[in-house]
Amino acid sequence: MKIKVSKCVFNSTHVSEYQDLQLMSHLAEIGDFQLPTSHLYAYTPLINSHDHLVGNWLPKAGKNRPYPTTDIWVEEMKTSPSYLERNKVWFNDGKFNLLKGNAKLLTTLGIYKNIFSGCHVVQDHAPNQKKSYYEQFPIYVPENYRQCHSISLGNWWGGKSARSEWKSTKGKMPFILHLAEGTNEKARSAFGIFERLNLLKPNSLIIHGIALVPPEIKKCAQVGTSICCCPESNLFLIGRTIDIPACMEYGVNLVLGTDSTMSGSFNLLAELKIFHREYPQIAARDIYRFITENAARALMLPEPYGRLSETTSELLLLEPKDDDPFQNLLQVEIPDIALLVHKGTPIYGDAILLSGFKIKEDNYYFFSLSGRQKFVIGHPEKIIDKVDSLLGYHKEFHYIPF
Ligand SMILES: [Zn+2]
Repeated sequence: MKIKVSKCVFNSTHVSEYQDLQLMSHLAEIGDFQLPTSHLYAYTPLINSHDHLVGNWLPKAGKNRPYPTTDIWVEEMKTSPSYLERNKVWFNDGKFNLLKGNAKLLTTLGIYKNIFSGCHVVQDHAPNQKKSYYEQFPIYVPENYRQCHSISLGNWWGGKSARSEWKSTKGKMPFILHLAEGTNEKARSAFGIFERLNLLKPNSLIIHGIALVPPEIKKCAQVGTSICCCPESNLFLIGRTIDIPACMEYGVNLVLGTDSTMSGSFNLLAELKIFHREYPQIAARDIYRFITENAARALMLPEPYGRLSETTSELLLLEPKDDDPFQNLLQVEIPDIALLVHKGTPIYGDAILLSGFKIKEDNYYFFSLSGRQKFVIGHPEKIIDKVDSLLGYHKEFHYIPF
Protein backbone atom coordinates (compact mmCIF):
# COMPACT_ATOMS: atom_id res chain seq x y z
CA MET A 1 0.00 0.00 0.00
CA LYS A 2 1.32 3.42 -0.95
CA ILE A 3 0.73 6.47 1.19
CA LYS A 4 0.41 9.91 -0.28
CA VAL A 5 2.22 12.62 1.64
CA SER A 6 1.18 16.11 0.74
CA LYS A 7 3.64 18.99 0.99
CA CYS A 8 0.91 21.47 1.63
CA VAL A 9 1.91 22.84 4.97
CA PHE A 10 5.30 24.46 4.73
CA ASN A 11 5.22 27.83 3.05
CA SER A 12 7.34 28.19 -0.07
CA THR A 13 10.40 29.29 1.86
CA HIS A 14 10.23 26.22 4.00
CA VAL A 15 9.63 23.87 1.09
CA SER A 16 12.67 25.05 -0.84
CA GLU A 17 14.69 25.23 2.33
CA TYR A 18 13.94 21.63 3.16
CA GLN A 19 13.84 20.25 -0.36
CA ASP A 20 17.33 18.79 -0.20
CA LEU A 21 16.12 16.47 2.50
CA GLN A 22 12.80 15.76 0.84
CA LEU A 23 11.13 16.59 4.10
CA MET A 24 7.50 17.29 3.46
CA SER A 25 4.53 17.58 5.68
CA HIS A 26 1.89 17.56 7.27
CA LEU A 27 -0.79 15.64 5.53
CA ALA A 28 -0.73 11.96 4.76
CA GLU A 29 -3.33 10.10 2.75
CA ILE A 30 -3.71 6.37 2.42
CA GLY A 31 -5.63 5.58 -0.73
CA ASP A 32 -8.83 7.57 -0.35
CA PHE A 33 -8.38 7.77 3.36
CA GLN A 34 -6.90 10.92 4.75
CA LEU A 35 -5.09 10.44 8.02
CA PRO A 36 -6.03 12.91 10.74
CA THR A 37 -2.42 14.06 10.86
CA SER A 38 -2.59 17.74 10.08
CA HIS A 39 -0.66 18.51 13.24
CA LEU A 40 2.17 16.01 12.66
CA TYR A 41 5.57 16.22 10.99
CA ALA A 42 6.32 13.70 8.26
CA TYR A 43 9.80 12.24 7.73
CA THR A 44 11.36 9.30 6.03
CA PRO A 45 11.90 6.73 8.81
CA LEU A 46 15.31 6.56 10.47
CA ILE A 47 18.23 4.24 9.74
CA ASN A 48 20.38 2.82 12.53
CA SER A 49 23.74 2.13 10.87
CA HIS A 50 25.23 0.07 13.68
CA ASP A 51 23.70 -2.38 16.11
CA HIS A 52 24.26 -5.93 17.32
CA LEU A 53 20.69 -7.18 17.53
CA VAL A 54 21.50 -10.20 19.68
CA GLY A 55 23.40 -8.04 22.18
CA ASN A 56 20.73 -5.67 23.44
CA TRP A 57 20.84 -6.83 27.03
CA LEU A 58 20.97 -4.52 30.03
CA PRO A 59 22.64 -3.03 32.00
CA LYS A 60 25.85 -1.96 30.26
CA ALA A 61 29.13 -3.74 30.91
CA GLY A 62 32.33 -1.80 31.57
CA LYS A 63 33.60 -1.95 35.14
CA ASN A 64 37.16 -0.86 34.22
CA ARG A 65 36.37 1.95 31.83
CA PRO A 66 37.64 4.08 30.26
CA TYR A 67 39.52 1.56 28.16
CA PRO A 68 42.57 2.38 26.03
CA THR A 69 41.04 0.03 23.45
CA THR A 70 37.80 -1.91 23.36
CA ASP A 71 39.81 -5.06 22.58
CA ILE A 72 40.09 -5.31 26.37
CA TRP A 73 36.36 -4.66 26.87
CA VAL A 74 35.31 -7.31 24.32
CA GLU A 75 36.96 -10.01 26.47
CA GLU A 76 36.03 -8.50 29.85
CA MET A 77 32.40 -8.07 28.77
CA LYS A 78 32.05 -11.85 28.41
CA THR A 79 32.35 -12.23 32.19
CA SER A 80 30.07 -9.29 33.07
CA PRO A 81 26.88 -9.94 35.10
CA SER A 82 24.82 -8.71 32.13
CA TYR A 83 26.40 -11.14 29.68
CA LEU A 84 26.12 -14.04 32.11
CA GLU A 85 22.46 -13.26 32.68
CA ARG A 86 21.85 -13.17 28.94
CA ASN A 87 23.48 -16.60 28.66
CA LYS A 88 20.50 -18.00 30.56
CA VAL A 89 18.31 -17.08 27.59
CA TRP A 90 20.72 -17.79 24.74
CA PHE A 91 24.10 -19.40 25.17
CA ASN A 92 26.47 -18.40 22.41
CA ASP A 93 28.47 -21.52 21.52
CA GLY A 94 30.95 -19.32 19.67
CA LYS A 95 29.46 -20.05 16.25
CA PHE A 96 27.17 -17.01 16.16
CA ASN A 97 24.34 -18.89 14.45
CA LEU A 98 21.52 -16.43 15.11
CA LEU A 99 18.86 -18.85 13.89
CA LYS A 100 19.70 -21.38 16.59
CA GLY A 101 18.18 -21.85 20.04
CA ASN A 102 16.64 -18.80 21.64
CA ALA A 103 18.68 -16.28 19.63
CA LYS A 104 15.45 -15.11 17.98
CA LEU A 105 14.10 -13.92 21.33
CA LEU A 106 17.09 -11.62 21.68
CA THR A 107 17.34 -10.44 18.07
CA THR A 108 13.61 -9.63 18.10
CA LEU A 109 14.06 -7.58 21.27
CA GLY A 110 16.77 -5.70 19.36
CA ILE A 111 14.32 -5.13 16.51
CA TYR A 112 11.77 -3.64 18.93
CA LYS A 113 14.45 -1.32 20.31
CA ASN A 114 14.76 0.04 16.77
CA ILE A 115 11.02 0.10 16.02
CA PHE A 116 10.33 2.15 19.16
CA SER A 117 12.80 4.77 17.95
CA GLY A 118 11.29 5.22 14.48
CA CYS A 119 13.78 3.07 12.54
CA HIS A 120 12.75 1.11 9.47
CA VAL A 121 16.32 -0.09 8.80
CA VAL A 122 18.93 -1.44 11.18
CA GLN A 123 22.35 -2.75 10.22
CA ASP A 124 23.01 -5.85 12.30
CA HIS A 125 26.78 -6.20 12.63
CA ALA A 126 27.31 -9.93 13.06
CA PRO A 127 28.79 -12.68 10.92
CA ASN A 128 26.67 -13.12 7.78
CA GLN A 129 23.63 -15.31 8.46
CA LYS A 130 21.38 -17.38 6.21
CA LYS A 131 18.83 -15.49 4.10
CA SER A 132 15.90 -16.57 6.31
CA TYR A 133 17.45 -14.68 9.24
CA TYR A 134 17.08 -11.34 7.46
CA GLU A 135 13.61 -12.14 6.16
CA GLN A 136 12.00 -12.80 9.54
CA PHE A 137 11.79 -9.22 10.82
CA PRO A 138 9.04 -6.59 10.39
CA ILE A 139 11.61 -3.90 9.52
CA TYR A 140 14.53 -4.06 7.08
CA VAL A 141 17.70 -5.78 8.26
CA PRO A 142 19.90 -5.69 5.14
CA GLU A 143 21.27 -9.04 4.09
CA ASN A 144 23.73 -7.71 1.55
CA TYR A 145 26.93 -6.82 3.34
CA ARG A 146 30.26 -8.37 4.28
CA GLN A 147 32.07 -7.70 7.50
CA CYS A 148 35.02 -8.19 9.77
CA HIS A 149 34.76 -7.67 13.53
CA SER A 150 37.87 -5.47 13.64
CA ILE A 151 41.43 -5.14 12.36
CA SER A 152 42.88 -5.73 15.82
CA LEU A 153 40.82 -8.81 16.79
CA GLY A 154 40.10 -10.15 13.29
CA ASN A 155 36.93 -12.08 12.55
CA TRP A 156 36.90 -13.93 15.88
CA TRP A 157 33.11 -14.27 15.76
CA GLY A 158 32.95 -15.81 12.27
CA GLY A 159 33.86 -14.96 8.70
CA LYS A 160 37.09 -14.79 6.72
CA SER A 161 39.93 -12.26 6.85
CA ALA A 162 39.11 -8.59 6.34
CA ARG A 163 40.76 -8.61 2.92
CA SER A 164 38.90 -11.65 1.60
CA GLU A 165 35.61 -10.40 3.04
CA TRP A 166 36.12 -7.09 1.24
CA LYS A 167 36.98 -8.94 -2.00
CA SER A 168 33.70 -10.82 -1.85
CA THR A 169 31.77 -7.54 -1.86
CA LYS A 170 33.10 -6.92 -5.41
CA GLY A 171 32.54 -3.29 -4.46
CA LYS A 172 28.77 -3.81 -4.73
CA MET A 173 27.75 -4.09 -1.09
CA PRO A 174 29.02 -2.45 2.10
CA PHE A 175 32.05 -3.80 3.93
CA ILE A 176 31.67 -3.09 7.64
CA LEU A 177 34.20 -3.25 10.47
CA HIS A 178 34.98 -1.74 13.86
CA LEU A 179 38.18 0.30 13.46
CA ALA A 180 40.44 2.28 15.79
CA GLU A 181 38.07 1.90 18.74
CA GLY A 182 40.36 3.33 21.37
CA THR A 183 43.15 5.78 22.00
CA ASN A 184 46.29 3.65 22.43
CA GLU A 185 49.02 2.87 19.91
CA LYS A 186 47.18 -0.21 18.63
CA ALA A 187 44.07 1.86 17.93
CA ARG A 188 46.13 4.65 16.37
CA SER A 189 47.89 2.24 14.01
CA ALA A 190 44.68 0.54 12.84
CA PHE A 191 43.96 2.95 10.00
CA GLY A 192 47.42 2.41 8.49
CA ILE A 193 46.83 -1.35 8.42
CA PHE A 194 43.33 -0.80 7.01
CA GLU A 195 44.85 1.28 4.22
CA ARG A 196 47.67 -1.18 3.50
CA LEU A 197 45.14 -4.01 3.23
CA ASN A 198 43.53 -1.95 0.46
CA LEU A 199 40.29 -1.58 2.42
CA LEU A 200 40.03 2.20 2.03
CA LYS A 201 37.22 1.96 -0.52
CA PRO A 202 33.94 3.73 -1.31
CA ASN A 203 31.93 0.73 -0.08
CA SER A 204 33.73 0.46 3.28
CA LEU A 205 31.94 1.58 6.44
CA ILE A 206 34.23 2.25 9.40
CA ILE A 207 32.51 1.82 12.76
CA HIS A 208 33.77 4.24 15.47
CA GLY A 209 37.18 5.30 14.08
CA ILE A 210 37.86 7.05 17.41
CA ALA A 211 41.66 7.23 16.97
CA LEU A 212 41.56 8.52 13.40
CA VAL A 213 43.50 11.76 12.92
CA PRO A 214 42.35 14.53 10.54
CA PRO A 215 44.56 13.45 7.56
CA GLU A 216 43.08 9.94 7.84
CA ILE A 217 39.54 11.31 8.04
CA LYS A 218 40.32 13.44 4.99
CA LYS A 219 41.36 10.33 3.05
CA CYS A 220 38.04 8.68 3.95
CA ALA A 221 36.17 11.72 2.64
CA GLN A 222 38.19 11.77 -0.58
CA VAL A 223 37.68 8.07 -1.29
CA GLY A 224 34.05 7.95 -0.15
CA THR A 225 34.59 5.61 2.79
CA SER A 226 31.75 6.11 5.29
CA ILE A 227 32.21 6.51 9.05
CA CYS A 228 29.69 5.59 11.76
CA CYS A 229 29.79 7.28 15.15
CA CYS A 230 28.02 5.62 18.09
CA PRO A 231 28.17 8.51 20.57
CA GLU A 232 27.17 6.90 23.85
CA SER A 233 29.11 3.69 23.26
CA ASN A 234 32.25 5.70 22.42
CA LEU A 235 31.90 8.07 25.37
CA PHE A 236 31.03 5.31 27.80
CA LEU A 237 33.84 2.91 26.87
CA ILE A 238 36.61 5.21 25.67
CA GLY A 239 35.65 8.70 26.86
CA ARG A 240 35.62 10.32 23.42
CA THR A 241 34.33 9.95 19.87
CA ILE A 242 36.01 10.36 16.50
CA ASP A 243 36.99 13.96 15.63
CA ILE A 244 33.52 15.04 14.50
CA PRO A 245 34.54 18.61 13.51
CA ALA A 246 37.16 17.09 11.16
CA CYS A 247 34.51 14.75 9.70
CA MET A 248 32.32 17.79 9.01
CA GLU A 249 35.18 19.89 7.64
CA TYR A 250 36.23 17.25 5.12
CA GLY A 251 32.68 16.22 4.28
CA VAL A 252 33.00 12.56 5.16
CA ASN A 253 29.83 10.48 4.75
CA LEU A 254 29.03 10.42 8.45
CA VAL A 255 26.29 8.19 9.89
CA LEU A 256 25.10 7.34 13.41
CA GLY A 257 24.46 4.05 15.17
CA THR A 258 23.42 2.84 18.58
CA ASP A 259 25.74 -0.13 19.04
CA SER A 260 24.18 -2.65 21.44
CA THR A 261 22.81 -1.60 24.82
CA MET A 262 25.77 -3.40 26.42
CA SER A 263 27.71 -0.19 25.67
CA GLY A 264 25.34 2.25 23.93
CA SER A 265 22.26 4.15 25.00
CA PHE A 266 18.83 2.59 24.83
CA ASN A 267 17.84 3.66 21.31
CA LEU A 268 18.62 5.92 18.33
CA LEU A 269 16.47 8.82 19.62
CA ALA A 270 18.63 8.85 22.76
CA GLU A 271 21.79 8.79 20.59
CA LEU A 272 20.59 11.90 18.73
CA LYS A 273 20.25 13.77 22.01
CA ILE A 274 23.72 12.69 23.17
CA PHE A 275 25.29 13.66 19.84
CA HIS A 276 23.58 17.06 19.99
CA ARG A 277 24.74 17.58 23.59
CA GLU A 278 28.37 16.81 22.61
CA TYR A 279 28.29 18.72 19.32
CA PRO A 280 25.73 21.53 19.68
CA GLN A 281 27.37 23.41 16.78
CA ILE A 282 26.21 20.77 14.29
CA ALA A 283 22.89 21.67 12.71
CA ALA A 284 19.92 19.44 13.44
CA ARG A 285 19.33 19.07 9.70
CA ASP A 286 22.83 17.56 9.36
CA ILE A 287 22.03 15.10 12.12
CA TYR A 288 18.88 14.15 10.22
CA ARG A 289 21.02 13.54 7.13
CA PHE A 290 23.32 11.20 9.10
CA ILE A 291 20.39 8.89 9.91
CA THR A 292 18.65 9.05 6.53
CA GLU A 293 20.42 9.99 3.28
CA ASN A 294 23.98 9.39 4.48
CA ALA A 295 23.01 6.06 6.04
CA ALA A 296 21.30 4.91 2.85
CA ARG A 297 24.52 5.73 0.96
CA ALA A 298 26.78 3.99 3.49
CA LEU A 299 24.63 0.85 3.51
CA MET A 300 24.14 1.05 -0.28
CA LEU A 301 20.38 0.83 0.09
CA PRO A 302 18.07 1.13 -2.92
CA GLU A 303 15.36 3.76 -3.31
CA PRO A 304 13.20 4.72 -1.42
CA TYR A 305 15.47 4.44 1.62
CA GLY A 306 16.83 7.69 2.98
CA ARG A 307 14.38 10.04 1.24
CA LEU A 308 10.73 10.85 1.61
CA SER A 309 8.77 11.18 -1.59
CA GLU A 310 5.21 12.31 -2.11
CA THR A 311 4.01 8.77 -2.62
CA THR A 312 5.72 6.38 -0.34
CA SER A 313 5.43 3.09 1.49
CA GLU A 314 7.93 4.28 4.14
CA LEU A 315 6.80 6.95 6.56
CA LEU A 316 7.47 8.34 10.01
CA LEU A 317 5.01 10.79 11.59
CA LEU A 318 6.06 12.58 14.75
CA GLU A 319 4.35 14.83 17.24
CA PRO A 320 5.58 18.42 16.95
CA LYS A 321 7.53 19.54 20.00
CA ASP A 322 9.45 22.28 18.21
CA ASP A 323 8.66 24.72 15.40
CA ASP A 324 11.63 23.38 13.46
CA PRO A 325 11.06 19.79 12.23
CA PHE A 326 14.77 19.00 12.48
CA GLN A 327 15.07 20.29 16.04
CA ASN A 328 11.92 18.31 16.70
CA LEU A 329 13.81 15.08 16.03
CA LEU A 330 16.18 15.90 18.88
CA GLN A 331 13.31 16.23 21.33
CA VAL A 332 10.92 13.40 20.58
CA GLU A 333 10.64 10.30 22.73
CA ILE A 334 9.10 6.87 22.22
CA PRO A 335 5.47 8.04 22.89
CA ASP A 336 5.82 10.90 20.36
CA ILE A 337 6.01 8.54 17.40
CA ALA A 338 2.52 8.83 15.91
CA LEU A 339 3.13 6.39 13.04
CA LEU A 340 5.92 4.27 11.59
CA VAL A 341 5.15 2.56 8.28
CA HIS A 342 7.41 0.09 6.46
CA LYS A 343 6.51 -1.41 3.07
CA GLY A 344 3.05 0.08 3.47
CA THR A 345 2.48 -1.83 6.71
CA PRO A 346 1.89 0.07 9.95
CA ILE A 347 4.63 -0.97 12.37
CA TYR A 348 4.14 1.23 15.44
CA GLY A 349 2.10 4.26 16.43
CA ASP A 350 -1.19 5.64 17.64
CA ALA A 351 -4.03 3.15 17.38
CA ILE A 352 -6.32 5.88 16.05
CA LEU A 353 -4.19 6.06 12.88
CA LEU A 354 -4.71 2.38 12.10
CA SER A 355 -8.18 3.01 10.75
CA GLY A 356 -6.85 3.82 7.27
CA PHE A 357 -5.09 0.47 6.94
CA LYS A 358 -6.47 -2.97 6.27
CA ILE A 359 -4.92 -4.95 9.11
CA LYS A 360 -5.59 -8.03 11.20
CA GLU A 361 -5.77 -6.94 14.81
CA ASP A 362 -4.38 -10.31 15.91
CA ASN A 363 -1.08 -9.36 14.27
CA TYR A 364 -0.65 -6.44 16.65
CA TYR A 365 -0.14 -5.76 20.33
CA PHE A 366 -2.09 -2.82 21.80
CA PHE A 367 -1.03 -0.95 24.91
CA SER A 368 -1.47 2.35 26.66
CA LEU A 369 1.42 4.85 26.77
CA SER A 370 1.36 8.41 28.13
CA GLY A 371 -2.42 8.33 28.07
CA ARG A 372 -2.62 7.21 24.43
CA GLN A 373 -3.62 3.91 22.90
CA LYS A 374 -0.65 2.55 20.94
CA PHE A 375 -0.13 -0.41 18.62
CA VAL A 376 2.97 -2.29 17.62
CA ILE A 377 3.37 -5.07 15.09
CA GLY A 378 3.83 -8.60 16.42
CA HIS A 379 3.79 -9.66 20.02
CA PRO A 380 6.73 -8.31 22.02
CA GLU A 381 4.80 -8.98 25.23
CA LYS A 382 5.08 -12.71 24.52
CA ILE A 383 8.83 -12.41 24.02
CA ILE A 384 9.21 -10.69 27.37
CA ASP A 385 7.04 -13.38 29.01
CA LYS A 386 9.25 -16.07 27.49
CA VAL A 387 12.44 -14.32 28.63
CA ASP A 388 10.95 -13.97 32.13
CA SER A 389 10.04 -17.64 32.25
CA LEU A 390 13.58 -18.64 31.21
CA LEU A 391 15.09 -16.35 33.86
CA GLY A 392 12.55 -17.13 36.58
CA TYR A 393 11.94 -13.43 37.28
CA HIS A 394 10.87 -10.28 35.45
CA LYS A 395 13.50 -8.49 33.37
CA GLU A 396 13.10 -4.82 32.38
CA PHE A 397 14.17 -3.65 28.95
CA HIS A 398 13.99 0.14 29.02
CA TYR A 399 13.69 0.40 25.26
CA ILE A 400 10.36 -1.48 25.42
CA PRO A 401 7.78 1.06 26.63
CA PHE A 402 5.43 -1.25 28.55
ZN1 LIG B 1 29.71 -2.53 17.53
